[in-house]
Amino acid sequence: MTKIRTSPAIGIVVSVALLCAHSGLAIAFPQQSDALSYVFYIFWSLAALCACSWRALRSGLAVRRSWALLAIALLFWVGGTVIAIHAQFFQHASSDFATIDDFFYFFYAVPILLAITSPQDMQLGTVFFWLDGIQIVAIGFLAYTAFFAVIPFSGGTLHPVPVQRLIGIYDVEDFLVALLAPIRALACPRGSAERRYFKALSAYLWIYAVSASIYNHIVASQNDAGVLDMLVDIPFVVLALTAWLDWPPAGVPGEGKNRRPLAVVIDNARPILLGLALVALSGWNARTHLNLAMGMIFGAFVVYGIRSAMLQNRFSQTQKALEQASERLERLVLQDGLTGIANRRCFDQRFLQEWARARRTGSPLSLLLIDIDHFKKLNDTYGHLTGDECLVQVAHLLQTTISRPGDLLARYGGEEFIALLPETDDAGALNVAERLQSTLSRSQPLPSIDRQVTISIGVTTWMRINGTPAEAILATADRALYVAKQNGRNRTEYLPLDTEP
Ligand code: GH3
Ligand code: MG
Ligand code: MG
Repeated sequence: MTKIRTSPAIGIVVSVALLCAHSGLAIAFPQQSDALSYVFYIFWSLAALCACSWRALRSGLAVRRSWALLAIALLFWVGGTVIAIHAQFFQHASSDFATIDDFFYFFYAVPILLAITSPQDMQLGTVFFWLDGIQIVAIGFLAYTAFFAVIPFSGGTLHPVPVQRLIGIYDVEDFLVALLAPIRALACPRGSAERRYFKALSAYLWIYAVSASIYNHIVASQNDAGVLDMLVDIPFVVLALTAWLDWPPAGVPGEGKNRRPLAVVIDNARPILLGLALVALSGWNARTHLNLAMGMIFGAFVVYGIRSAMLQNRFSQTQKALEQASERLERLVLQDGLTGIANRRCFDQRFLQEWARARRTGSPLSLLLIDIDHFKKLNDTYGHLTGDECLVQVAHLLQTTISRPGDLLARYGGEEFIALLPETDDAGALNVAERLQSTLSRSQPLPSIDRQVTISIGVTTWMRINGTPAEAILATADRALYVAKQNGRNRTEYLPLDTEP
């Protein structure tokens, strides 16, 4: 595979030689130029089809479908040419009549239009792609019916189509897709595989539109192009080389997977534009093919309804997932990672709320600052992992003891915990502290530790009579804890607010 890619010059030289051969043969054998040209058309369109299929197979998911759609478009073109050959050489059909080959030539643009309009938001999944696909096929069907005045494959009579009108139809179709492709390229993130695909597609579509238009107008006026037949080859040569040589080069990745604002506009506007196009074309066909028009309008509503229902469902699911994620995030932000109890951030929030409430209602508010005694020694003796386990167990014991719904136990830092007890006076706070001490003295947090784990507690209580600020309450509890440590540890000390030790 890489061997082929290292020889782009050979591919380009061979292609140019074949283009010259096509013109040379058309000049040398003017009588057989039609038959000769068909051989080259089929050869080059098949070469482009194979190159696109090959590129689809080796491309990532983002553009695989788009390359495959281009290959399908070329399949329509090859089909149209085979039917045209059959009509010209075996049925001797008049070129004034639109034959079924025109259906295939016309429908060649449908897969390309689908590639251009397919949702860039891959999250929307394949169902939305297929809904678009149904609508675009219906649009192609209705547009063909309107332009050629016959429903394809209905057995209806094919009417003479003036050559100028036929050329006009193909000009409009070719330049429409050629105009849309670069817009779509602009909507793709810089450096993305999608952007490379749409650049390649735009180059091909413009060359196709210009060469097809020149060719059609000259053939229409001279009725025999001969040497100019190779104009038809050129876009396929370019496409085959583009797909084969992996053009355009990968470039520097730009905006990653971020959708550009233009892509958001296109993704949002597409459903309504496709729906409107369907309704407009149905209206156009209503006078001559009422049943078809009614059926298509009904279909457009059904597709729109399915899309809306699916989007609504997706929206609800996303909203639910977001709510769950936000709850999880909030829990993580307010929870201590080691012990699972509230963390300091959670305490700070609740403390300010309870402090404000206490001032409003005049009810007392108590704080217990709890510190494990000689924890450093425990760490040094048993290691930090055992120290961590011990912290978890102590947190659990404290948490089960502080059981009133409004109370909060939080890890304040290292091996310090803090208990916030709203509507609790000094007697109540001392009672809780005593319960905490006795819980610790009754239970051994870890069987592997052969010494009693004890705690010191500093207690203080805010009551309406104190005009102390919030920080002073914390500072007083800290001082009370210091006193407990000074007085021998494994004990509780109470300090009233505004009181120096
Ligand atoms: P005392 O409080 O009784 O005065 O003595 P101490 O040894 O407990 O002293 P201090 O409170 O100053 O030391 C706290 C020690 O706790 C220091 C550190 O080794 C330990 N520590 C703090 N956070 C953690 C932790 O998350 N895990 C573990 N294993 N140890 C911690
Ligand atoms: Mg400490
Ligand atoms: Mg300590």
